[in-house]
Amino acid sequence: MTEPTSPSRRILIVGGGTAGWMAAALFAHAWQKRGFDITLLESSAIGTIGVGEGSTPKMRRFFERLGVPEAEWMPACNATYKCGIRFPKWATRKGYESYYHPFFSHDDDATIRAFFNNVTLRNRNFDVPAHPDAFFVSNYLARQRRAPLAEAGTGYAADYAYHFDASGIVEFLKGFSATHGVRHVIDTVTAVHRHENGDLAGVSTEQHGDIEADFFVDCTGFASLLICKTLGVQFDSYKDILFNDSAVALPTPHDADGSLPSETLSTALKYGWVWKIPLTNRFGNGYVYSSSYIDQDAAETELRAHLGLLDADVEARHLKMRVGRVAHSWDRNCLAVGLAQGFIEPLEATALMIVQDTVETFMQRYEQGGFSDRYRADVNEKINLIFDGVKNYVFMHYKLNSRDDTDYWIDNRANPHVADDVARILEVWDKGGDLLGELRNQASRLVYSPTSWYCILAGMGRFPRAPKKPKRKLQVADPADAKRYCEGLARHFPDHRAALARFAASD
Ligand SMILES: Cc1cc2nc3c(=O)[nH]c(=O)nc-3n(C[C@H](O)[C@H](O)[C@H](O)COP(=O)(O)OP(=O)(O)OC[C@H]3O[C@@H](n4cnc5c(N)ncnc54)[C@H](O)[C@@H]3O)c2cc1C
Repeated sequence: MTEPTSPSRRILIVGGGTAGWMAAALFAHAWQKRGFDITLLESSAIGTIGVGEGSTPKMRRFFERLGVPEAEWMPACNATYKCGIRFPKWATRKGYESYYHPFFSHDDDATIRAFFNNVTLRNRNFDVPAHPDAFFVSNYLARQRRAPLAEAGTGYAADYAYHFDASGIVEFLKGFSATHGVRHVIDTVTAVHRHENGDLAGVSTEQHGDIEADFFVDCTGFASLLICKTLGVQFDSYKDILFNDSAVALPTPHDADGSLPSETLSTALKYGWVWKIPLTNRFGNGYVYSSSYIDQDAAETELRAHLGLLDADVEARHLKMRVGRVAHSWDRNCLAVGLAQGFIEPLEATALMIVQDTVETFMQRYEQGGFSDRYRADVNEKINLIFDGVKNYVFMHYKLNSRDDTDYWIDNRANPHVADDVARILEVWDKGGDLLGELRNQASRLVYSPTSWYCILAGMGRFPRAPKKPKRKLQVADPADAKRYCEGLARHFPDHRAALARFAASD
């Protein structure tokens, strides 16, 4: 193996799941013309995780960056639009049994102000209507199964994300990467080699001999073959904070009326929650649960009962999840991306957003400073903040639950492993303090906007304990006004299924 004297032009991506192909597409699109030689190596004997069908609005920027229009990739991936996520049955407080986490834009400012106004007035002694659902256009779009694409001339731009078929996106990105010069090798890595200085030098494979590279991208999934197993980077588990470590998935057919939801449904069950993700050809469903509270067979039975599939001959897929993150994603000449670098359970569908953030941040800093330690530290710090910021927000769903039906929910609520930032948010909120100010103080560590934090707190029915002295000018906003405004706007958005049909019509 040669010493690493060349200017890092040969990049070897190990792993061909969604993370590997997203990384390949981003690298190839930006760097292939500049002389980088990019190879993706994946094993046909070791499968991909095969799930991961929800996204955040960041995914829009991914395809925009690659210059791929929706009409090209969405039909190929059975993709649908996602206006937000609905969370039924997480809380039991009357009127707060379900809440919706909306994607919103500046065009929601008027109703968001009304929501903030009422939330600020609301406390346990003053029952102001402060459930967020009334105040966000996105909720009405999702309720009415509309696509988040406003007719021209409304002056309103909804933010949105997508749902897509996990294998479809891999195939699409594989094709994209091939046309951008990525070499694809199908083989299994049997050994990883290092230079004397400890950097990675290359890998041995079963059929293609040794493959050398200057820079390595570990996309080997939960195996973490390069970053953890070879370089020995520590994995920090979130198990004490996020209890779920398993999932069982099952597809179901569309609703009989032929309509297509434009939201993810994340319904709490006894020992976790179940996702329902609409694709153009089926629903994807999966129960995410903690194996400390329920075993695999019982979880599958509970999911089947929930879906009405107790007697159906549909095979379920069982998955284990390693929840946490590596101490740093970029070590020496290796960047870990995807499940290899870490995973936060899929409640907010953030994994592919972190893949994108990791690769983009790395590329940006690498262009500025190559392998400089300063930039490496900077990238690692940024990625860790994203992981921890998402973890805190996901944790809040569990902390705020008000279910008493199982130990699982009671233990989640009583969980003492509360991050300092989360503890501070709860303390300020419960005392009726200046939460906006607190969130601003935490801005450099927050992944979710203040609006999202207010939505989850109010949406799950948690309100300040201490009565506040309302400012004299503050008046209660009537949610009926927000409803009228949102419904008026929603009329200018197309039916979801009809919006997707236009792709077929333009073939
Ligand atoms: C239950 C569940 C639900 C999820 N839901 C979402 C969601 O809604 N939204 C979201 O963004 N994310 C979600 N995720 C996460 C998402 O699935 C992953 O982040 C995404 O699929 C990327 O996976 P990956 O490419 O890192 O790993 P994998 O898909 O596991 O791919 C690993 C690759 O490494 C290769 N490999 C491993 N070892 C070797 C070897 N020795 N030699 C050669 N190749 C090797 C394999 O062949 C494979 O190609 C979910 C995950 C789980 C578990």
